Amino acid sequence: MTDEILRVALDTPLRRTFDYLRDENSPAAVAGQRVRVPFGRREKIGFIVSIETHSELEKSKLKQISSYIDDQPTLDASLLCLLRWAADYYHHPLGEVIATALPKLLREGAALQERQFVWTLTPAGRTALDAGEPKRARQQRALLERLAAHEAGVSESELADWPRWREHARSLRERDWVLRQEREARNHPQASMTGPSCGDPQGSRGDEPSAANRAPPPAPTPDQQAALDTVIASGDTGYRAWLLQGITGSGKTEVYLRLTERQLQAGRRVLILVPEIGLTPQLVGRFAKRFAGIPLAVLHSGLTDTQRLEAWRRTHDGSARLVLGTRSAVFAPIPDLGLIVVDEEHDASFKQQEGGFRYSARDLALVRAQQLDIPIVLGSATPSLESLHNVTLGRYQPLSLPRRAANAQPPTLRLIDLRAEHVHAGLSTTAATTIEKHLVDQGQVLVYINRRGYAPTLACTACGWVAPCLSCDARLTVYRQASRLRCHHCGADRELPRQCPQCGYAVKTVGQGTERIEESLAETFVGVGIARLDRDVVRRQDELEAVVSRITSGEARILVGTQMIAKGHDFPDVTLVVVLNADQGLFSTDFRAAERLAQTIVQVAGRAGRGDRRGEVLIQTEYPDHPLLRGLLEGGYEAFASAALAERESAAWPPFARLAALRASALQADWATDFLAAARRAAPKANVRLLGPAPAAMAKRAGRFHAQLLVESADRAALHRFLDRWVPAVEALPEVRRVRWALDVDPLELF
Ligand SMILES: [Zn+2]
Ligand SMILES: [Zn+2]
Repeated sequence: MTDEILRVALDTPLRRTFDYLRDENSPAAVAGQRVRVPFGRREKIGFIVSIETHSELEKSKLKQISSYIDDQPTLDASLLCLLRWAADYYHHPLGEVIATALPKLLREGAALQERQFVWTLTPAGRTALDAGEPKRARQQRALLERLAAHEAGVSESELADWPRWREHARSLRERDWVLRQEREARNHPQASMTGPSCGDPQGSRGDEPSAANRAPPPAPTPDQQAALDTVIASGDTGYRAWLLQGITGSGKTEVYLRLTERQLQAGRRVLILVPEIGLTPQLVGRFAKRFAGIPLAVLHSGLTDTQRLEAWRRTHDGSARLVLGTRSAVFAPIPDLGLIVVDEEHDASFKQQEGGFRYSARDLALVRAQQLDIPIVLGSATPSLESLHNVTLGRYQPLSLPRRAANAQPPTLRLIDLRAEHVHAGLSTTAATTIEKHLVDQGQVLVYINRRGYAPTLACTACGWVAPCLSCDARLTVYRQASRLRCHHCGADRELPRQCPQCGYAVKTVGQGTERIEESLAETFVGVGIARLDRDVVRRQDELEAVVSRITSGEARILVGTQMIAKGHDFPDVTLVVVLNADQGLFSTDFRAAERLAQTIVQVAGRAGRGDRRGEVLIQTEYPDHPLLRGLLEGGYEAFASAALAERESAAWPPFARLAALRASALQADWATDFLAAARRAAPKANVRLLGPAPAAMAKRAGRFHAQLLVESADRAALHRFLDRWVPAVEALPEVRRVRWALDVDPLELF
């Protein structure tokens, strides 16, 4: 027996690793390697996280691993380091954290590298070819000729575009003229394990990317050049966090592209994180076009398991030089990573808000950059208040693009007082006449409403009944075209009733959603093409492209949609943006609601006037004197942000305090709150404040009752020391069996 103890992380909810022994006949293990191990009566796939000489258990009680799955590590030292950090910080079992980071097929044992087969000509095949065989099968002969021209053989992927090649190859193999062999695995850049461990800066490999097929890029604007000069002057390596604040249309992407190019030229790789690939096709397209010929991998939630595995393998073996992806791509295994870019860093989709492991990809990207000692750029037109605060503290260096590229003018903003206007189907007279004017002037119009469906409520005209969801504390949304009632929280879907089920009287819809606004605009602007963009009409990327092209071609003149219209699309002929309901979010219990509202208004408004005509933005509100709206109008996002930060400071909310939320749900309301009350009683004495338990604002969702307990502290280290002691105690509570619970460190939304 060897002295090596292999410490293995397994995908179980248990907060611990497991020790195993190595079979003395197998080669030495390395951290990050996948192994099969006996676990209970089954076998499980796990990851070696360290190699130890001592175990807390007696050696005679330890089992041997069953086998190594690969002869090289799946996770290199730096990635393992990031995953350990994440498990510690989010107080989540390492095995589950590793499982989150990897494609499903790899967790199930798929090979780390794709097996490649090559076909070669045998001596008998050569003789046959020389003798003019096979005489009647022209395709088979052509295949023999092709193999004869490549002594090392031709791979199956190279043959893939040849019609029915497998059939021909099989016939030839039956006559022993050709041979099929597995090609040796590619050289793996990480296989030697000389890569960096935690905190070690990375070396450069120094190979040059191909510069072929590249169109000359546009010259940077003076603002872009100034930002680039600042970053470049501080060096291409070494940790530094940059916050690139650029108004919509100022050309942040050009800055990303130029910084990426420098890294690629130095032989390093680049990771670009984006909120949602489906909603930012233009950004992906620009990278693919600028770096044509440079292998790119795209990782997002729309991939099939096989596609994800394939993209991951190309990342892991280093063939992809540029990796673009959404949230979980922060865990992409990228050798020689030189730069991370987080675009739209304020976007909530970087935070995993469901399941057990609730991480922030933006925050982990910063940790990864710090551990690798490389630069990171966070970009946004409307940075999160946390990031702006980090600039004040000197943790991030600010970069600013205050002007639109090509000298396009920023739009003018105007509030419309809904109390003083005639409003028809959600649209004020001023909004309607302004739309008309812009259409006459050959402009295009965006109408933003933060609600999908036809109407948010169906009500009885006589007895006051409203259509409720039976599983949630929510009303059902009316879908008139489909004649359905649907719940946006649990997916309940029922037929739209013609009469009140309670009294039999007539029912009516109350309020507006995108579908209804589309209908009323079509009635008002007869003959004008109208497109709609929301999650009901667009579920796949090709559907999004179809809607976007109706606008860019000019066929549709008005676009109605939810915040999907604000994300990354460039519609140069849009001259007017109308925000229909700004008031949601002005009076929310969630302390981040105002920030989200300001970001949405600024992002939507940014779609107006990106071409050579000045844009106009109308915001409908019943609260034209609300300080948030006034601040935005008079001082822009910056003025809003500094006022909001002052408010956060006086209320001791993040970023001036650290939060963690213990969330629970159960089939009965008191089970969830009982569990949280017990968790509160089990809390060790510490320098933290406990708030709650309190039922969620929408307590019942999909048949389960939700509640939360907040932990707050001004001191991050104190909070984490508390959580270290508290979480195991919470886990051991007898009440835990009746609930589903999760710890959310740095929660983004408070329900
Ligand atoms: Zn009724
Ligand atoms: Zn529901």
